[in-house]
Amino acid sequence: MGSIPKRQTCGVCGKTPCQLFHVPDEIWLEAVHPSRQQDIHCLDCFTARADEKLLLWDKDIQFYPVSMRTHIQLIPGVTLDDALAARENGGSDGK
Ligand SMILES: [Zn+2]
Repeated sequence: MGSIPKRQTCGVCGKTPCQLFHVPDEIWLEAVHPSRQQDIHCLDCFTARADEKLLLWDKDIQFYPVSMRTHIQLIPGVTLDDALAARENGGSDGK
């Protein structure tokens, strides 16, 4: 539909993380308030909460860097050409 695909944004601060991560459930559930556990968290927001509770979040954390190009290729029905065309048409993605 001509819009530029966007990465998911952090539900706390609104940033668009290019570094996704995974921590064990017990760390996630302890660090993140139940009302926020379904939200995407950027690394900064997650680690701030985990550190408030002195959790050992660095032991089993795994990182998944995601470039915008990779992200676009994971969206069903969207091609790289679509994304580039939408970008040239002046989307509102900011910088
Ligand atoms: Zn954040």
